[in-house]
Amino acid sequence: ASAIARYRANNPKSEGQMLAACDVLPAGNTRSVLFHGPFPLYMARGEGCRLWDADGHAYIDALGEFTAGIYGHSEPRIQAAIVGALQGGLNLSSHTEREAKLAREIQRRFPSLELLRFTNSGTEANLMALAAATAHTGRRKVLVFDGAYHGGVLAFGGGGSPVNVPHDWVVARYNDLQDVKARVAQHGSELAAILVEPMLGAGGCIPAEPAFLQRLRALADECGALLVLDEVMTSRLSFGGRQGQLGIRPDLTTLGKYFGGGLSFGCFGGREDVMERFDPRRPGALGHAGTFNNNVLTMAAGLAGLTEVLSAEALEALNTRGQRLRTSLNAVFAAHRVGLQFTGLGSVMQLQPLAGPLRSADDLKAADDRIKALLFFELVERGIFLARRGLVALSLPFGDAEAAAFVSALDGAVAKCRDLL
Ligand code: PLP
Repeated sequence: ASAIARYRANNPKSEGQMLAACDVLPAGNTRSVLFHGPFPLYMARGEGCRLWDADGHAYIDALGEFTAGIYGHSEPRIQAAIVGALQGGLNLSSHTEREAKLAREIQRRFPSLELLRFTNSGTEANLMALAAATAHTGRRKVLVFDGAYHGGVLAFGGGGSPVNVPHDWVVARYNDLQDVKARVAQHGSELAAILVEPMLGAGGCIPAEPAFLQRLRALADECGALLVLDEVMTSRLSFGGRQGQLGIRPDLTTLGKYFGGGLSFGCFGGREDVMERFDPRRPGALGHAGTFNNNVLTMAAGLAGLTEVLSAEALEALNTRGQRLRTSLNAVFAAHRVGLQFTGLGSVMQLQPLAGPLRSADDLKAADDRIKALLFFELVERGIFLARRGLVALSLPFGDAEAAAFVSALDGAVAKCRDLL
C-alpha cells in the first residue's frame, strides 16, 4: 500500500491524464495489457533506451515495447528511412519496390518462408495463417496451448477468452507431450493446424522444451495438420529465430513486432504450396486484403532496421546481454534468499513470483500477483521501467551500464521489501 501511495504522489500528471482519458476510452485504455491500478504511467518522450514520463521522471526502458522496440527509441538510421519514405509520398495507392526487398530480407533469415505476405499486426498474421491452414487442409480444428497468446482475439490463458475468434479450438497443455498425443489421437483427422509459440511469451516466458517442439513437428506430419510456429516474439532470439536455433522447419510461421522497424507490422508465410493459394492469378485464390499491409513507412523502417542496424552479430550480442542480465537478476534473488526468478530466453524475460522449474501455465497458478506489483512499483521508483506484469525485453541501446543499474535497483527493491516476498 505504501509503494502505491508513493507512486500516486510522485505521478500526478500521469494520474490526471488517465482520469481525463476515461471520458473517451474505457479506463482511459486502448491496449488492455497496459492497464494496471491505480493508473499506468503516461510517457512523454523516448530516446535510445531512455523514457521520460509526463511528470518528468527518467527511466531506463527495460520493456522495449513488449519486444517490438528492439532498435530503441528514435534510432537515427530508421528515422532517416522513415523521413525519406515520407518525402516520397505517404500512401501511394499501389505497390512499391520496398515490399519485395523487405520480404527477401525476412526470407534470408527464415528460409522456411518460401512465400510470405504482410499484415498490420501479429494478430492478423496468426488469423491469416489459420485461414490458410483451414483452407489448405479442408479441416476445422486448431490445436493450441493453455497460456498461449497469439493476439487479443487468440488468447488462451485460462483456456480461452470470450473475444476469441470462433475457431474450433482444442486446447492442450504446454510441454506435455502425453496430453498432446491424447488430443491428437482424438481429433487428429480434423486438425488443420497446431499453432504454437516456441516460448510462451505473454503466458510467462516459459520456453518449449526443444524435444517437445520436435515432437509437435512429427505429430503434425502424422495427422496431416500444418505446424504453425508463432515467432512474433521469439524471432529476435537469433538471426533465424527459434526455428533456426532448433533446426525445426514449420509449415507456416508468423512474425511481427520489430520487423516493422517499430511501426505496425505482421507477416505470415511458409510452404510454397500453401502460400501460393494467395496468388490472385489462380482460380479460386484466397483473398488477403488490408489497406496498410504494404504501407510505405513500415516497409522503409523495417528494411532499414534489417539492412542497416540489426546485424547477426548485434542480435547475438543483444541476446547474450539478456542471458547475462537474467543470471545477474536471479543472483540477486538467490543472495536475498527469496523464492523469485526471471524466466525466459536471450533478451526476453519475465519476473515470476515463485521459484522452481516452470513448464506450463498450470505451474503459474500459485503465483502471487501482489509480489509482482510490489516489485514493479519499487523498480519504477528506482528508474527501471518494465511491464506491470513483469515482462522485460532488451533493446540494442540497452548496454552494460543499464544492466548494472537494473541489477542494483532490483537489489535495493528486494532488500527493502524482503519481509513481504
Ligand atoms: N503472437 C505473440 C507470440 C505475441 O507475443 C503477440 C503480441 O504480443 C502477438 C502474437 C500479437 O501481435 P500484435 O500485438 O502485433 O497483434
